[in-house]
Amino acid sequence: MPVYKAPVEDTLFLLNDVFQFERYNNLPGFADATPDLVEAVLGEGAKLCEEVLQPLNHSGDQEGCKRNADGSVTTPKGFKEAYRAYSEGGWIGLAMDPEYGGQGLPYTLGAVMNEYASAANMAFAMYPGLTMGAIAALYVHGSDEQKRAYLPKMIEGAWSGTMNLTEPHCGTDLGLIKAKAVPNGDGSYAITGTKIFISAGEQDITENIIHLVLARIEGAPAGVKGISLFVVPRNAIGADGKVGENNKVSCGSIEHKMGIHANSTCVMNYDGAQGWLIGTENKGLNAMFVMMNEARLGVAIQGLAQSEVAYQNAVAYAKDRLQGRSLTGVKNPDKAADPIIVHPDVRRTLMSIKAFNEAARAFVLWNAIKSDVAHRSTDAAERQAADDQLGLMTPVLKGVLTDIGFDNAVKAQQMYGGHGYIAEHGMEQFVRDARIAMIYEGANGVQAMDLVGRKLGRDGGRAIMAFFNEVGAFVKENEGDEALKPLLAPLAASLGHLQQATMWFMNNALAKPDNAGAGAHDYMHLLGLVCLGYMWAKMAKVAQDKLRAGANGATELMNAKLVTARFFMERSLPETAAHLARITSGSDATMALSAEQF
Ligand SMILES: Cc1cc2nc3c(=O)[nH]c(=O)nc-3n(C[C@H](O)[C@H](O)[C@H](O)COP(=O)(O)OP(=O)(O)OC[C@H]3O[C@@H](n4cnc5c(N)ncnc54)[C@H](O)[C@@H]3O)c2cc1C
Repeated sequence: MPVYKAPVEDTLFLLNDVFQFERYNNLPGFADATPDLVEAVLGEGAKLCEEVLQPLNHSGDQEGCKRNADGSVTTPKGFKEAYRAYSEGGWIGLAMDPEYGGQGLPYTLGAVMNEYASAANMAFAMYPGLTMGAIAALYVHGSDEQKRAYLPKMIEGAWSGTMNLTEPHCGTDLGLIKAKAVPNGDGSYAITGTKIFISAGEQDITENIIHLVLARIEGAPAGVKGISLFVVPRNAIGADGKVGENNKVSCGSIEHKMGIHANSTCVMNYDGAQGWLIGTENKGLNAMFVMMNEARLGVAIQGLAQSEVAYQNAVAYAKDRLQGRSLTGVKNPDKAADPIIVHPDVRRTLMSIKAFNEAARAFVLWNAIKSDVAHRSTDAAERQAADDQLGLMTPVLKGVLTDIGFDNAVKAQQMYGGHGYIAEHGMEQFVRDARIAMIYEGANGVQAMDLVGRKLGRDGGRAIMAFFNEVGAFVKENEGDEALKPLLAPLAASLGHLQQATMWFMNNALAKPDNAGAGAHDYMHLLGLVCLGYMWAKMAKVAQDKLRAGANGATELMNAKLVTARFFMERSLPETAAHLARITSGSDATMALSAEQF
């Protein structure tokens, strides 16, 4: 059976030493987040994930969700109780406004918990995850009355939230949405239409489900400019706040799918369901983007989480499985063979996953802190800079962490040989679960287009220039440190590749947009690799400083950081050259064949 141990020590190294979390204690909610409290919170979260969520992962996958004849959905055994434990632990409201029952702690801690929960049980973590996304959208764009009506119940875990964008004929191109909203004359609307692939659309975990639904008000302009966002509770809510009759929303069916079996993926039918506008008419996509951006970061974390849990199991197996002998002489003379972890090819695989996981965790936390700054700082310039970075990095996080997260789940499965293909070991579940993260919340090809087509050039390229300056300044400041030199030289070279690729787009993509489209995926990965390399350089600097200062009992860990940093720079980062070569080859060969020639 698979195992999982939340990487609390690594998280604390990042928060305390690398990002100096305490230095943000002027932000609301941060003063309470002292190092002791953070450690205690993460320790509690880790316990819940390891002891309650992880044991339900395999059984939940095997059992799956069932739609009953009356349209209700039964989730796997134990999920309802686990959700109760999760909400009673205060995890849904961890970073939410205390006015509505939240704890007001930093969002960053919520992102950490999201990693642990998604690694322990990704299908489960989606139920609270979507609820938190819906809370965020209601909090930013909902009226005071809506906030009062929905947020406390959602935060306490009595009601959940969903996100309804996709329709049978449109997923990426939301301008094609057909669901319609007709004014009822009393301030509410009758919502009619079919939404597909709605995660957690129906379940037996909470007493009500608050659907956020994109629909078109009759007479609205065509395309994305005519879409509005509505809140549609599954069950009507009385003036006393009690849950009443069904609101003409039903689950038509649930999908039989590759992974995340324990999360219900529903076809939702709205047959004149009563809904209320959130925010402004025809500005629904703006409002939904609050939820989508939060969800994209959440999905990025799912990529890291599946990579981490798959890695942990691959390491355990590699230490245990005896096959062949070490190339450098017998290591296990009392046994018939050595454990496979002695083989360089196994090491190569494990090191590449480890080097990704630790840098990806840093990349997530670096941006999660920016999210806190963007939402909580009183300094407008600081808020703007943080927002710029988040806008630029959200598609990179989503696309790169889920692409590599999936690759790593496959690599970790490979460590088990044939046993990795057999269900009882759980490795094939990680592969199946990780796969969806590359698709939903905007397929990764679309993330790449968002990055290159919209985010890169926004405000005259302010965000990417700030990133170039930050990494360039880091390299310059530390170039005199002999120990860091072998790490900084490859980082500087890869930053150069990124700058060349950016310049190439500026000169070649405006007149010929296919050049941007054909190079977008490579650019997203090129930028992602430079970010991960930058994270390694930052971590290595701290590790080096700690070793020089005596490391306080953490010598082994800090040495491992330096070795892993070197591995990343030598083995992973050089891929930036290949990305640059592909980008600058342009789009001619990609686009030359006619559709009939395929
Ligand atoms: C298990 C699961 C859960 C989901 N949960 C939810 C949910 O809770 N709520 C919700 O609303 N939706 C949900 N979805 C839907 C999901 O977000 C969409 O499937 C996804 O956004 C892609 O849309 P699509 O399937 O229509 O693919 P399409 O939009 O048809 O895209 C097909 C392919 O074409 C590519 N493509 C499309 N347009 C472009 C372009 N302009 N440039 C480059 N490439 C392009 C895409 O990258 C993709 O590879 C879920 C889906 C699944 C499978």
